[in-house]
Amino acid sequence: MTRLFGTNGVRGVVNETMTIGLATDLSRAIGTFFGGGNVAIGCDTRTSADMLKSASVSGLLSAGCSVIDLSIVPSPTLQLEVKNGDYSGGIIITASHNPPEFNGIKCVDAEGMEMDKAGEEAIEDIYFSKRFLTVGWEDYRNREENVDAVDNYISSILGNVDVESIKRAKPNVVLDCANGAAYLSSPRLLERLGCETVLLNEVPDGTFPGHNSEPIQENLAELMEVVADSDAVLGIAHDGDADRSVFVDENGDYVPGDKSLALIAKRTVEEKSGGLVVTPVSSSSCVEEAVTKSGGEIRYTAVGSPIVARVMKATGAVFGGEENGGLIFPEHQYCRDGGMAAAKVIELLALSGEQLSSLLQEVPVYHNLKKKIHCPNEIKSEVLEGLSSEFEGKETDTTDGVKVLYPDGWILVRPSGTEPLFRVFAESKSQGRAKELADEGVRIITELIESRTKGS
Ligand code: MG
Repeated sequence: MTRLFGTNGVRGVVNETMTIGLATDLSRAIGTFFGGGNVAIGCDTRTSADMLKSASVSGLLSAGCSVIDLSIVPSPTLQLEVKNGDYSGGIIITASHNPPEFNGIKCVDAEGMEMDKAGEEAIEDIYFSKRFLTVGWEDYRNREENVDAVDNYISSILGNVDVESIKRAKPNVVLDCANGAAYLSSPRLLERLGCETVLLNEVPDGTFPGHNSEPIQENLAELMEVVADSDAVLGIAHDGDADRSVFVDENGDYVPGDKSLALIAKRTVEEKSGGLVVTPVSSSSCVEEAVTKSGGEIRYTAVGSPIVARVMKATGAVFGGEENGGLIFPEHQYCRDGGMAAAKVIELLALSGEQLSSLLQEVPVYHNLKKKIHCPNEIKSEVLEGLSSEFEGKETDTTDGVKVLYPDGWILVRPSGTEPLFRVFAESKSQGRAKELADEGVRIITELIESRTKGS
């Protein structure tokens, strides 16, 4: 069956694949799936936000839903609102970190969690079969505005960190809002925490004039420079919808997401004298080593934050997240939360009295490599089967793709959920060995793909 939903919602280039027709009908399907009730809707700062949101609102209203419009909000703000309020679910118009010509539709359930696969498939079924619920004139509801969601979100974060200790430390920080939805929440959150904050790209602008909205090192040159040239103890960068946070240490050095994930995981497990940490199989072993050495346990899942969040909830995990800066704090809510992640790192600095660079020395050093190999979607499952027999007899984990475990490292080969390609990850404590493993993974997957394409 053709699928609409990728790892985090439906995405596409605006007015090419992401059209008002798709937004309307998909929202009719979502409204039908919810069976009416209150549905929250929000968006990030993209130029197409109003157009797609209006289409989406029409679709929801035609299915008899009451629409509560939160306007521009970070994704975790809408998710918290849905979790705490009386809602059937919510829709977020966002393409997260994608380039400005993209937009997307993300659906959240009544608990504010990203929709699970079964829910997405049920919505897709309604969409493709056009079995839309269409109510009569007497049952149309209204669109109402909600202007309190951001205040409630900030208050909830403040309730989950040691505000007094942070205020005493009065940290200087630099915040890069990426011209995205974070402009509404993070500057105010930092002010309430008593931080002295220098703001970058804090003007909402869906053309992303500051830099592309993915918080990766190559996009954060300005943030690193400003932190290095000031007495700031921390740089914080969000993606377009502010569900992710990545950090820059006091020297202006970029902190890879797996390191901040491992550091917070370790500190959480220490604080709670144990507990489970959940992360996808693609995460660096630095997380597992930091967690297990501190008396905690690790649970690996397939790639995708909706999966991580649900496993966390089912297992009562103390913390979880992804290496891209998507961190989930269960005491707050079961979704990635950029504002909460920023507040937690600021708290960690304040309580330890140490610099971020020295705290990060607690995280074990691993070298990892990532490669992409093109593979037509039609043969992905066949190639994946071939992969399993290729590694027969070796210690493997097949949670997502095939992960081969060696005494001194691992290779993970997994099909992308959204693009025609396989991803190869390799990791070892030795840089040379990591490269060897990556080359091995690339060789095997390339041969498998070639033999299948030649045969067809
Ligand atoms: Mg995002």
